[in-house]
Amino acid sequence: MIVPGSLSENAVIDTAEQALPVYRPTSHVRPRRPIELAWRTFFHISVQKFVRRRERFPLVTMLEPLEACNLDCAGCGRIREYLPVLTKTLTLEQCLRAVGDSGAPIVSIAGGEPTMYKHLPELIEELVSRKIFIYCCTNGILLERVLKRIQPSKYLAWVIHLDGMETRHDLAVNRKGVWRKAMAASKLAIEKGHRVCSNTTLFRGSDAEDLHQLFTLVTDMGFEGVMVSAGYDFVDGPVQEMFLTREEAIRVFRQVLTDDALKRIRFYNNPLYLSFLRGERDYQCTAWSNPTYTVQGWREPCYPVADRHTDDVDDLFRSALWENYGVGVNSKCANCMMHCGFESASVYQAFSSVGAAASLLNGIVGKRAGIGTS
Ligand code: SF4
Ligand code: SF4
Repeated sequence: MIVPGSLSENAVIDTAEQALPVYRPTSHVRPRRPIELAWRTFFHISVQKFVRRRERFPLVTMLEPLEACNLDCAGCGRIREYLPVLTKTLTLEQCLRAVGDSGAPIVSIAGGEPTMYKHLPELIEELVSRKIFIYCCTNGILLERVLKRIQPSKYLAWVIHLDGMETRHDLAVNRKGVWRKAMAASKLAIEKGHRVCSNTTLFRGSDAEDLHQLFTLVTDMGFEGVMVSAGYDFVDGPVQEMFLTREEAIRVFRQVLTDDALKRIRFYNNPLYLSFLRGERDYQCTAWSNPTYTVQGWREPCYPVADRHTDDVDDLFRSALWENYGVGVNSKCANCMMHCGFESASVYQAFSSVGAAASLLNGIVGKRAGIGTS
């Protein structure tokens, strides 16, 4: 386990004798997200909204079985916020109870680094048997090892953290050799028949050309899609200057999400959220849709901010709580554009407007589709 701040700049994963793998498309058939995910999500929202008449309900359970990590990224709030409890992990039963209590059809397993969680194979097997869609977010370092114990499934996608091409990514994660390791593991996962996506967080200094190169490469390799999000300005982050204000984020996203890039690259985020990132649409946050369970309980109110933890997931859906959060309401929300708050908002909004629904549907059946995770 890495204690934040303990990594030297020279920390290296030894890749000296490894030749750079050849990253080429392994198939002419481009992978697509399962259509079942789209209709199950549509069904879930319809039932919650129109049958159960719930104003707030979960869409994605964010499950963090542990907060420890084998990296020390400068932009990471988690390993610093949970420093006193980095040795704690959830039991398998606690994980499954949290998923059951939330009731969302999608689970994003994050942390910390979930491949360090010893019950990960059993957890994934059980969730797959319940037909819950899983996005397992990983830095890729231990992925090859974990793949020996986990079978491919249409319900499971690996989400590989990649913040740029080799030089920029290794700098972002503060460790040389990580990019190669993550890319080699991604290639292996695709060859074994796993669904694989990438997730890129944009910070001050993110380079549009470098990111286009990365997105083109992973698209050609057979990644199912590319997710992007703005970094959240965690107060515990050691390098505060790296976080973008909203105005800056929109400027950077306009350079990254160009019309040409949107045509060529299969972005996994839905088109309404991408349009929001380009500053063309405005939404208020609906982060209650992504309840986040950790070793200290449910984060209240949301994935990036925990003003307290609670044992009762229903606490996160109270109207009184949401009077205190959101852009223009709380200073902690001022620069937030994270998909946990705003991608879901774009989806919910699509359920109340024909134009937005058509845009979303176009994304779901088209090249860049659907409902991403956080
Ligand atoms: S890999 Fe993820 S969890 Fe680990 S330090 Fe980096 S951002 Fe944090
Ligand atoms: S705007 Fe961001 S920080 Fe504020 S409640 Fe929503 S997700 Fe959380």
